[in-house]
Amino acid sequence: TVEPIAQMIADRVVDVPDFPKPGIVFKDLTPLFADGEAFRTVIDDIVARYAGEFDAVVGIEARGFVLAAAVAYASGTGVVPIRKAGKLPRVAHAVSYALEYGEATLEVSEGAFKPGERVLVVDDVLATGGTAVATLDLVERAGGVVAGLVVLMELGFLDGRSRLPGREVHALMTV
Ligand code: AMP
Repeated sequence: TVEPIAQMIADRVVDVPDFPKPGIVFKDLTPLFADGEAFRTVIDDIVARYAGEFDAVVGIEARGFVLAAAVAYASGTGVVPIRKAGKLPRVAHAVSYALEYGEATLEVSEGAFKPGERVLVVDDVLATGGTAVATLDLVERAGGVVAGLVVLMELGFLDGRSRLPGREVHALMTV
C-alpha cells in the first residue's frame, strides 16, 4: 500500500529527462510547492515527525530554503541557510563535494548556531548524498548537533543513504 503523502508527492513531481545534464532525470517538485494543500501537508508531516527534537532548521540552497522556512515558521524555530559558494557575506566554514551532476561548495555563516543547538536539515531530493554529507558536516563544524535530515524524495537507486551511516534520515517518499 502506498502512503497518501507519498502518493501526493508522486502525483506532483515532474520527471525532466536530461536536465541539467544528459543522463540525469531531474525530479521537479515545484508543482508540489505550488499546490497549497499538498505543500501544507508535507510541511505539517515534517513538523509533527520531529516535534520537540530541533531548535533550528537548515535549508540547503535553493529548493531547501522553501521547505526550511515553512518548517521553521510552523514550529516556531529559526531558519539558517546553507548556501553555495560566494553567496554568504560572512563565511565561517566551507565544504566542497561531488554532485550527481558536477561539483559544488557549500558555506555556512559565522555564528549560525548556538553551541549544541539541535538542527533539522531539510531538502527536496536526496540523490548521491554528497550535498547532505557536506551540509551535516557544516552544521557540526558550526557548533550545531544534527537532529535529522529530511527530504521529500529519496532516489533509492543512488544509495545516498549509505553515505550517511548513523544519521537519522527520513524521506517522505522513495523512488
Ligand atoms: P546529491 O548531493 O547527489 O544527493 O544531490 C542532492 C542535491 O542536488 C539536492 O539539493 C537536490 O535538490 C539536487 N538534485 C540532485 N539530483 C537531483 C535530481 N535527479 N532531481 C532533482 N534534484 C536533484
